[in-house]
Amino acid sequence: MTMDFTDRLTRVEPSATLAISALATELENEGADVVDLSVGEPDFPTPENIVEAGKAAMDAGHTGYTTSAGIIELREAISEKLADDGLDHGPEEIIVTPGAKQALYEIVQALVEDGDEVVLLDPAWVSYEAMVKMAGGDLTRVDLSETDFQLEPALDDLADAVSDETELLVVNSPSNPTGAVYSDAALEGVRDLAVEHDVTVISDEIYKEITYGVEQTSLGTLEGMADRTVTVNGFSKAYSMTGWRLGYFAGPEDLIDQAGKLHSHSVSSAANFVQHAGVEALENTDEAVEEMVAAFEERRDLVVDLLDDHGVDVAVPDGAFYMMLPVDDSEALRASDDASGDQPRADDQAWCEGALEDAHVATVPGSAFGTPGYARISYAASEERLEEGIERLAEEGYL
Ligand code: PMP
Ligand code: GLU
Repeated sequence: MTMDFTDRLTRVEPSATLAISALATELENEGADVVDLSVGEPDFPTPENIVEAGKAAMDAGHTGYTTSAGIIELREAISEKLADDGLDHGPEEIIVTPGAKQALYEIVQALVEDGDEVVLLDPAWVSYEAMVKMAGGDLTRVDLSETDFQLEPALDDLADAVSDETELLVVNSPSNPTGAVYSDAALEGVRDLAVEHDVTVISDEIYKEITYGVEQTSLGTLEGMADRTVTVNGFSKAYSMTGWRLGYFAGPEDLIDQAGKLHSHSVSSAANFVQHAGVEALENTDEAVEEMVAAFEERRDLVVDLLDDHGVDVAVPDGAFYMMLPVDDSEALRASDDASGDQPRADDQAWCEGALEDAHVATVPGSAFGTPGYARISYAASEERLEEGIERLAEEGYL
């Protein structure tokens, strides 16, 4: 029998970040020593106190369903965390989800329908595009690659992209895949446009806790933004809890009511004991988070220096654990162009495939984020592995 699949699914591709990571794992299973700089996942174990809290919650019998929006203790702890960031959301304005990805999915499903316009800042994390397409929305993309991935100098371009037709704008600062932290002036520019054109904004703040010497202002704190911002965050990155699947979103109550229907009919709730571990994460883990962030900063500096030694300049990221490596100019790409005899290609896909095959270094092509000509490096790996990875890329002619 041939099944007839829906347009909404056949028009999207699987997550490129997860696909490349799966490819790297496959190579490793075949015995290759792969330096995996592809998937965005902290390499630290989840802090011990959080693990213990999860175990204790299981032992205490927290293994049944919870209220769909999440246990009240966690929503209260999230409400306090958001208050520290200057955001005013009571527990009734918060939904706890199995990962921030599910939060984003529910928000997009609640707000976007066929033909609605959604504006993304490119390069943009892979799943935004897929989520919008699955909802039937149309994308308008603003390219930040000419401005070192900063938004402030590109506000005119954003102004050209946003109109009364725009339903939703997605802002992700610190950004995946660039690590850029948008300035307050940039966020004020977003605010002015959102207010002028009556646009809802998703502020994906999943890397908010991971910044180096700067702080990321929460968009929803700006005047005029409280009732049009949906703030998304989660536990995967700051607390190294990717596999626990825990995230949340906070926004105006009518959005929470609508998205809550999808939440209750799909996932029911996030896992019970995981939510209890989340309370511990928010209340007692500041020191471990600081240590992880300090390690990421050292690794960022190391990678920037090593690339500089090989004559490669990157836009130095102020947050998250990613950077965009320009790959158009690499010796390996030129060699593959010469061999093919075709027009020279600026093919980041070919670069990433070659780097994985020849150097056994996994990265993600910029085109997966809407910006060809780059490869995304996740430097959430040990210094030793980062050195090894860059050394191999250089040896094989990829730098
Ligand atoms: N937003 C961004 C920008 C991300 O990089 C990720 C990482 N997967 C997510 C959301 C979702 O994270 P998770 O579902 O693991 O909480
Ligand atoms: N956000 C991470 C990344 O960009 C995890 C993978 C994913 O969820 O797509 O690599």
